[in-house]
Amino acid sequence: MSWVLSSHKLSPEALLNEESIFALANGYLGVRGNFEEGYAAGMDSIRGTYLNAFHEVIRIPYGEKLFGFPDTQQKLVNGIDAQGIKLYFGEDAEEFSLFAGKVLFYERRLHLDRGYAERIVHWQSPSGKEIKLTFRRIVPFRFRELFAIDVSLEGVNFTGPVKVVSTVNGDVRNYTNDKDPRVGSGHAKLLAVSKCGVKDGCGYVADRTEVSGLTMSCVTRHDLSGVGQSVHMVHDGAKVVYEAVFPLTTKRRFTKWNVYTDTLRHGESPLEQGFKLHEQIRGIGFDELVEMQQEDLKRFWTSSDIVIEDDYALQEGIRFNVYQLLQSAGRDEYSNIAAKGLTGEGYEGHYFWDTEIYMFPFFLMTQPDLARQLLLYRYHILDDARARAREMGHSKGALFPWRTISGSECSSFFPAGTAQYHISADIAYSYVQYVLATEDTDFLLQYGAEVLFETARLWMEIGHYYKGAFHIDEVTGPDEYTCCVNNNYYTNAMARHNLKWAAKTYDLIRRYDAAGWDALCRRLGVSEEEVQGWKDAAAAMYLPYDEELGINPQDDTFLRKKKWDFEHTPRENYPLLLHYHPLTIYRHQVCKQADTVLAHFLLEDDQDMETIRRSYDYYESITTHDSSLSTCIFSIMASRVGYADKAYRYFRETARLDLDNTHGNTKDGLHLANMGGTWMAIVYGFAGVRLKEAGLFAAPAIPSGWKRYAFRIRYRGRLIGFDIDKKEARITLHEGEPLPIHVYGEQVKLSPEGVVRIPLPAGMGSE
Ligand code: BGC
Repeated sequence: MSWVLSSHKLSPEALLNEESIFALANGYLGVRGNFEEGYAAGMDSIRGTYLNAFHEVIRIPYGEKLFGFPDTQQKLVNGIDAQGIKLYFGEDAEEFSLFAGKVLFYERRLHLDRGYAERIVHWQSPSGKEIKLTFRRIVPFRFRELFAIDVSLEGVNFTGPVKVVSTVNGDVRNYTNDKDPRVGSGHAKLLAVSKCGVKDGCGYVADRTEVSGLTMSCVTRHDLSGVGQSVHMVHDGAKVVYEAVFPLTTKRRFTKWNVYTDTLRHGESPLEQGFKLHEQIRGIGFDELVEMQQEDLKRFWTSSDIVIEDDYALQEGIRFNVYQLLQSAGRDEYSNIAAKGLTGEGYEGHYFWDTEIYMFPFFLMTQPDLARQLLLYRYHILDDARARAREMGHSKGALFPWRTISGSECSSFFPAGTAQYHISADIAYSYVQYVLATEDTDFLLQYGAEVLFETARLWMEIGHYYKGAFHIDEVTGPDEYTCCVNNNYYTNAMARHNLKWAAKTYDLIRRYDAAGWDALCRRLGVSEEEVQGWKDAAAAMYLPYDEELGINPQDDTFLRKKKWDFEHTPRENYPLLLHYHPLTIYRHQVCKQADTVLAHFLLEDDQDMETIRRSYDYYESITTHDSSLSTCIFSIMASRVGYADKAYRYFRETARLDLDNTHGNTKDGLHLANMGGTWMAIVYGFAGVRLKEAGLFAAPAIPSGWKRYAFRIRYRGRLIGFDIDKKEARITLHEGEPLPIHVYGEQVKLSPEGVVRIPLPAGMGSE
């Protein structure tokens, strides 16, 4: 049953969260799980439809604006609303609402294996008419522009007339909340209707943004089964209204086909393209669409499913998270994965480092084509990153924006924004991981090398030698409760990796294709001497270490600061960012999220295990996990240092973070980075998988309460299955050529002939 997420809740709070949880998307188009007919008057709702990367450019208001602060930012636009369907029953036109009359049965479901959502209702109107209704909706992977809603109606004690009023509304607004920095605070009205009308049996609306000059359009057609209906469609210049009246003598169905297009993906006349796309999908029925979706998902789950036996809640959590990742990932050069995917407006639809460090690994190891696409997006905005580096005073290199949609920096708060230079190294890291997992040297030559060279140059610009060591000053690491510091361990370690790999890539692509290498180096002006500089800086990189504590300090002054008074901080004062001025927080040893601990995960060979363990203990005691990007990393590293119980506890927190709304803001959208983190906590955490230059490594363990878990990964053209129980790990090569991998440090050879069985060593959960 864990393939179906289901809910019977109708409380205002639950419904608001479920708008995010039951959102449907396909990487291009996303629709929140709103009720077609809406809620009762006065109930909050964030009604949303988004096209990935479709944004407006807005001015950033500053009290004091200094040099280099971005003038404008992009904001994801809440688009044309095609969800509206109201139903009226009988001569007295009683309006269907789950908040009037009696709800005899109500369930909503999200089918993770079939890729659609449905609402099943048995409703009694205030005057006693009983009707059964099923609403099904789909945003198919195969037709990225389509959002279809299918409604079936059946009278139980009622055969009278039904009126359907279906709308496509171009007069829409974004959601704002000026009390929460994680949500946009102004600029609610971002779209103006430019066209609206009825043509060829379809209603259409086109909306335009004022500054970015983008147009989004929606063309809608309705199909109604049966006979005896009277139908007409009108528009008022902003909204198309379709009305049908028919008797409910038999079961009736109608389907609403909405096709969304936009300037970014469909050129200057998206509306025309919308009509054309309708022609292409005409003839496909809703049920057929569901079948196609199921086929596509079958392929997806073949490599992406994780099985957790006998733990329903966690099984549901992990499947839900993996499914949402698939729904959210952009599939073209304009789009990526927003912090909230396409499920809400939190963080204004911006792309962060969340993609590379938290979500990319899942795609890389299960859907490498999508991973490649995510990297291409970064390549696409490389020129903006170069321009930003110049603006920041660097004569060479590329500084990727902390948060963005179309490529320029959108962060107005530089201490926890632009100062997070590590994002450039994070992107470089993901390119390296991609090459390690796929051996795609051609990709490295075409795209990766340029990104690695330009980001390496950034460190040479910002870093400097001091007493023989390479230092990086005035940056912010991942932990946003400690800003603008010198020698953040995470940043320095990641920059070192970036520099090392830029130099390595230079040699690698030279051997692979001398002419291609030469052309690239000429184009970018890269010389032997410059590359030597990268190698030297990497070798001399200063990585802070504290002799007394035997840990890596988070930065040069971190350990001198006063520790936060956790004991006297009331529960309701978390997250701290909503209750204390940033300076109060920065003055203390307190971490919002994994920082040094994250570096130890990503670059475990840079430190000995004892330092890693001590550092884990130290930082764990001062980390609030106020960011949803934290507990998954603590789970992985707890696994790594042998704290099995903690690993499991943190995992539980990450796996159901949105389903249980533990951060209290699921209504603003799902926490996509955490969802990628859940996957990592199993594969990289419990199973100890690592991708290294020397190959694929694993060290499977099993949490004590589990009977068995299983997952698959793609690696260098192979599909490898891991199946782990209390006794042993069974590793199967499902596709591809034989391959040696490292399990518990020993080499084992996988071949199509048979399953490799490896007993779980003591302490790994075995019995
Ligand atoms: C975290 C950042 C993250 C951002 C978007 C913040 O709360 O501290 O690390 O990138 O959320 O998810």
